[in-house]
Amino acid sequence: MDKNTHITFINPDESTFSYSQISTFKTCKEQYKIVYLDGHRKKDESIEAFMGKCVHGTLEWLYQKENMRRPYITFDKICKIYDNIWQDKWHNKIFIVDHNLLSNHFYAIGKRCLSNYYHKYGPIFDQKVYATELALNFNIEGKYQFRGVIDRLDQPEDGFWVIHDYKSGKRAMTQNMAKRDLQLAMYQIAVEQNYGPVKKISLTWHFLRNGVELTISHSSDEIQKFKNIISKNVKNIIKSSKNIENFYPKETVLCNWCYLWDECSAKFIPNPSKKAY
Ligand code: SF4
Repeated sequence: MDKNTHITFINPDESTFSYSQISTFKTCKEQYKIVYLDGHRKKDESIEAFMGKCVHGTLEWLYQKENMRRPYITFDKICKIYDNIWQDKWHNKIFIVDHNLLSNHFYAIGKRCLSNYYHKYGPIFDQKVYATELALNFNIEGKYQFRGVIDRLDQPEDGFWVIHDYKSGKRAMTQNMAKRDLQLAMYQIAVEQNYGPVKKISLTWHFLRNGVELTISHSSDEIQKFKNIISKNVKNIIKSSKNIENFYPKETVLCNWCYLWDECSAKFIPNPSKKAY
């Protein structure tokens, strides 16, 4: 079958949207079509994504109730948990873009992320954690349904919430970038809708690789602007979904980390990334 004829449209009016969906639509519309309209999901992932999941999994373990009851946690213990997750979750669809690098290189970056975090907060992890990997539903304008998963939500006081996001990528954001960030603004909307009335709420990014943290808060006017942006994006997706011609490929450097080359109309060979061992 020709790649372009493989179309199974799902009515996007009935969808639950997510930050990833909006982000993918902006990055490459063909990728959006393949994933969200054709429903074509793959297990394939980059070693960077896999490492990030292992780091997230380790930090999730750290804040489980039974572990928070421990008087302290050694860095050796954290490394052991990371090793176990890395081994348990390893699969044969992990790829490396740079052929000069080995999976050990990325494994070590993950450890550095955890070491940076440990030096900041260890050995006693007594943050006021309300939940980790918290899935929340919320809506925009009362009609567009959304779902988001928050890495960690803290409640330092009644009515005061802190949304935490862990990043294991190379670059940290600037304050200005953080103020414009849609993902955590969405999570703020989710927390306000699920746990209101909210007296105070702030957003904290942990750029683990650099050992840098950034905290901001938004005014209600700023949150309203984000709601308008989200609504505009959703309307654009719904409108575009009425015509398949709107879903064209946008080739950028990000294609190297896209594992849909077999399905993409712009690619005629499989993604050249090497398999990780
Ligand atoms: S390979 Fe590139 S152009 Fe094709 S779907 Fe993926 S990101 Fe889009």
